[in-house]
Order: sequence, then C-alpha cells, then structure tokens
Amino acid sequence: MRKYLIFLFSFCSVVLMAQEQNLSQTGYFDFKTVNAHVRIQPLEKAVSGKVSYTFEVLVQQDSLYIDGRNMQFTDVSLNGEAVKFSSDEKGIYILSEFLPSENNLLELNYSAKPTTGMYFINWEFPEIDDAQKQVWTQGQGKYTSNWLPSFDDMEEKAEFDLSFEFPSKFQLISNGELKNTENINDSTRLWQFDMEKPISSYLVAVAAGKYDFKKVQSETGDLIRLYYKPEDSLKVEPTYRYSREIFNFLENEIGLAYPWQKYDQIPVQDFLYGGMENTGTTIFSGSFMTDSTGFKDRNYVNVNAHELAHQWFGNLVTEVSSKHHWLHEGFATYYALLAEKEIFGEDYYYWKLYESAEQLKALSDSGKGESLLNPKASSLTFYQKGAWALHILRERVGDEAFRQGVKNYLELYSFKNVTTDNLLAEMEAASGQDLSQFKADWLEQSAFKATQSLESLKKSEFIINYLNIAALRETSLDQKYEYLEKALSFPVNDYIGQEAVLQLAGLQSQQAINLYKKAFESNNIFVRQAISSSMDVIPNDLKAEFESLLDDESYLTIEAALFRLWEQFPADRTAYLDQTRDLVGFYNKNIRMLWLTLNLVTPDYETELNQQYYEELADYTDIWRPFKVRENAFSYLFQLGAFNKSSLQSLIKGTGHHTYSFRNYCRQLLSELLKNEQYRKELIELSGNMAEEETAYLRSKITG
Ligand SMILES: [Zn+2]
Repeated sequence: MRKYLIFLFSFCSVVLMAQEQNLSQTGYFDFKTVNAHVRIQPLEKAVSGKVSYTFEVLVQQDSLYIDGRNMQFTDVSLNGEAVKFSSDEKGIYILSEFLPSENNLLELNYSAKPTTGMYFINWEFPEIDDAQKQVWTQGQGKYTSNWLPSFDDMEEKAEFDLSFEFPSKFQLISNGELKNTENINDSTRLWQFDMEKPISSYLVAVAAGKYDFKKVQSETGDLIRLYYKPEDSLKVEPTYRYSREIFNFLENEIGLAYPWQKYDQIPVQDFLYGGMENTGTTIFSGSFMTDSTGFKDRNYVNVNAHELAHQWFGNLVTEVSSKHHWLHEGFATYYALLAEKEIFGEDYYYWKLYESAEQLKALSDSGKGESLLNPKASSLTFYQKGAWALHILRERVGDEAFRQGVKNYLELYSFKNVTTDNLLAEMEAASGQDLSQFKADWLEQSAFKATQSLESLKKSEFIINYLNIAALRETSLDQKYEYLEKALSFPVNDYIGQEAVLQLAGLQSQQAINLYKKAFESNNIFVRQAISSSMDVIPNDLKAEFESLLDDESYLTIEAALFRLWEQFPADRTAYLDQTRDLVGFYNKNIRMLWLTLNLVTPDYETELNQQYYEELADYTDIWRPFKVRENAFSYLFQLGAFNKSSLQSLIKGTGHHTYSFRNYCRQLLSELLKNEQYRKELIELSGNMAEEETAYLRSKITG
C-alpha cells in the first residue's frame, strides 16, 4: 500500500512539473517538423495515425509534453527506442533524460474519437444522396489537439507535413502543397501534403467532401483554388467574385509576397463561424454560396478578404497570447476594409467605419468599453476597434510610413510570434514619431475616442452629407421636403437615399407620396430595399410601384415586398403567388419558404396541392439539411402551429447541435413548444425513442 502511494506521489509530481513546464515549454524544446499520417474514418467518427516529430532540446529536462485530447497512445519511441510515457485526457508526457541536443526524433501512434475540433457531417445518412457528407476541422483556439497530437501553445511553430487516408470518392484538402495521391485499396485513397514553413497548430486543418474547384492565378503567379459543391457551379462566379482582385490588392498593399505555397477556399456545411484562416486553406460557411441576385444583399467579399489578410496577420506573424489578439483581428478587419474600398469605393469604406463607430460609441457610453489589450475583450473590440486603431494610426503617421512600418514588422517577425510593442516599435522607427499617446488613447484606454473618430469621419464629404440628412429625423416633412427631394435625386447615394426613405416611414401625405415616387424611380437597389422593408401600409397611389419590387435583383426586397403585398391586397394574392412561384432566394430558401407558407394560408389557392406544399416545408427541417435551412423552416412551422413528428424530432436534435446560435435557437423554440400540452405530449413520447445524449436538453426542461 505504501509502496503504491509512493509510486502515485512520484508520478503526480512528474506530471505536475510537466504541466508547469508546459506553460513555457518553448524555452526548453524547439519542434522543427511534424510528419503525420492520419487515417480518418468518417462512418465511425474516428481518427488514428502515426506521427513523427523532430525537435531540439535547448535546456536539460526530464519530460516533454504534447497536447492530445482524449487520445490513446501506443508505440511511443524516442530516437528509435521505446520510451516511458504517461498520458491523461489532455495529452502525453514523454519521460526521459533530455539533454541539450539537435535532431531528436519522437514517434508515436494515436487514436481518438473527437467530439470537437473535427466535425463529421451527415455520415449517418448514407442512403440520402442530397445529404452532403463532409469532414472539416476548426483549430482556433486550442482544438487541433482533439484530432492530431500537436501544440496548443501558439508560440510552438512547426512545419506540418500531413498525409490523410480517406474514402476515395471524396476530395480532401489540407495545408501545404498536394504532392501525391494514390489509391490504397478499392475504397480508400491517400493524400500527401508538403509544407515548407512553420505554423502554429491552431492553423492546421483538413476538409473533405464532394467538391469541384476552379483555378485562378494571382498577378504574381500564386495558385488560388476556389472550391464548390458540383451542383453549385452557377454560384461560383458571384460567390467568389473579386477573389483575384482581392488577392492582388492585398499583396500590393501589404508589400510582402503571399507567404504560403497555395491558397484554397472551401465552403462547408454548418461551419461554426463565417470563415477560418487556416494556413493556405481557408474554410468558410457554405451559406455564403450565392447567385447573382443574392450577391447584392449579402456576399462573401468581406470574409474572403478578411481570411486572406490573416494569412499575413496571424499566420505569418502570430500573437504570443490573446492579449495581442487585435494584431490578428484588427488587422484582418482593417485590410478587408481596404480591399472593399478598392472594390466598392470610398463611401463604402467610410460607411463601414461610421457604422462600427456608432456601435463602439454605444458600448463605450454604456460603460462597457474595452481596452484593445484586454485578452477577454469582445469581438466588437478586437475586430472593429482594432480596425479603427489602424485607421487612426495611418492618418497619424501617413500612408508611406504606415506601409513601411507594417512591411518591416512582417519581415522582421515572419514565422515568429509578436506583441503589440513589436508592432509599435516598427511603426515608430518608420515614422520617426513617438506613438505613446496613440497607444494610451487607442490601445490601452477602454473608452472609445468618439470625438476623434467623428473628426476623422468628417474627412469624407459623403459622411458630412449623410449626417446632415440623418439630423433631420425629428424635423417635419414640410420643413425638410427639399432636402429629402435632393437626397433622392440623381445620382442617389446608396446610404443617403436609404436614410431619406426611412424618414418617410408611416407618412401618407401627398408630399410623402411624391418623395416615394422619386425613390422608386431612382432604380437604386438599396433605396428600393429600404422602401420594401419600411413601408408598413402601401398607399393605393403607390401600389403599382410597390408591385414592381417583386422584380428587383434583391432577395431581401422581394421577400418583404411579397409579404406586404399579399397581406394588403387579398384580391391579388393569386397573382403575387403565381409571379414568385419559381424563386428560392438565399441559402436558407427565404423566398421559397415564405411562398409555401403564404400558399398554405391562402384560401382557395391550389388547395389540392396543400398537402404536398406542407410536406415540402416540413421536410426542410430534415436533420441532414444545413442548420440555416432548418431554422427558417422551424420558424414558419411555429407560426403555422404545424410541427409534425419528424420536425419535432429534428428540433430535439437541434438542441445539441455544434453551432452555438442554432443550438440556442432550438432550445428557446423547444421551451416555447413545451408550453403547449399537445406538443409537450408528443415531444416526450418522441424522446423515448431517441438516444439519451440527444434528449439531454429536453429532459432538463421537463424535469426542471
Ligand atoms: Zn479573423
């Protein structure tokens, strides 16, 4: 017994020491390469593999640590010989006498069933062809170690050369250049990638699924591949519009060549965020796939530029810790905005800055302003305040010094880690200015410098004009008529025109109708969008104009217009439904689902097809569909009070979905449905036939 205790004690102390060391292990060990052969088994939601690491020992140690969550390790060897190790749910400790030396080799085998970090989409529906089977990963913050034994510490950068085994009828994309693919057997294929430069583990990624791709080449010869699902070929042009322009612009603006071997962009189903800048391998939400009409409403341009900017800011130079997170997000947001300025013009640039200044001022006024150096700051701070800080810094030091300073900073710290002071030192050197006041005002201070921001915004004549119109919100129409009329006269500015229309909301006078007519005639898609979304009561004098909105190149406009027209002109419902029957709308099928719903509640319209239309709507809740489609269908079924068994089951499953926003949506809706006796009974009955982990939330609501 005693012996056992001693053993336990000494074992614990080794582990504790190792854990402490782990905080600063980069001071003792320097990993050079990670060579991994990874076997992904999507049907089993399992991953296993063999990994070899080469490393240098800098300071004598008696243990070495590698992060690997909930993994089984076998065949662990150090420099070719079996070595003692221990592992827990977080990783593996290699126990040996490590003396300062170069060229050490650690090898191990591992297996895991990741519940996070690697996502297996729709493999439980082999019989449904429309269910997209995909595997994709999300490494940031510290998730790569859920599927690959690696380093949660961002300061440990290594060259990752990865190979994957995966079912051969799919495409597989990972970091680095694809060197070779070969069939291992009838059903499994091997993909071998090669990287040339070191990266932090959180940027390691893999995505697999049914994909085609389009190749584009940048001005300087970089290979850009734009991936898409085979059935989305018509969406490739609008979705990826300006990709090449953005790439060329950023390379020129930053002044340093794109640092990686290739650049792939892969849309995936049910991604956690808008996009993730894995090195050379951006993964983004499939909901950005759009046709030309949807492009005007919402598009991938901003995320496209943002993730590409990260390839320098974050991937090439990486924060030492989250205290310096704005060096990633502030830069990516700012450079995306510069790229958009190039594409959409200066008014767009100032409008975006104006919008974020309003949000930051509101946060600041509420007493919740955050310093950019607060590691726990919100996204609004890291992204938008970070972009503002760079906008102001550039104004202060001038274009030339700004670009020179950024370039020097990137060159000096390429493939290394950085702090805010590293950046400031380069900016001070390039500009010859003391930036301590800038640092205090924009980086350290928690309040937002609203007055200084407004001064900067007023360098744009457009912003001055916009603010003059916005200042009239409380003024009577009589007194501001000529100003609004001017705002709606050719050439109409998108934002000022929208503001003018929004000020007419609820007005029915002849003056208002005259201005609305001007707004309709402007043929400005955004001005007409504002009419569609804000005109609660359509005057008879404007009925014909309002009906013309159904032909606009905007799904937002059409959705709002269809609903308002259907609501206010019952005699014409048939005509409106006939006119819009072939429209689908965005990724979430916004027009189609509205159409089905209106159809179902329009008496005497295609009543013989009601059952079919209802089933189509209910089927959009199918578990294998993208969550944005399911969510939209849930909301219509809720309004109709018409959930069937399979949509209720889909809702129960949704309460455990990996995407936070959808999971929350489902939980709230489920709580709402439980208030209804009939639904409550059905939900409880259904949950009896479902797996326990799927019904955890429902049970907590019933018993709690
Ligand atoms: Zn970002």
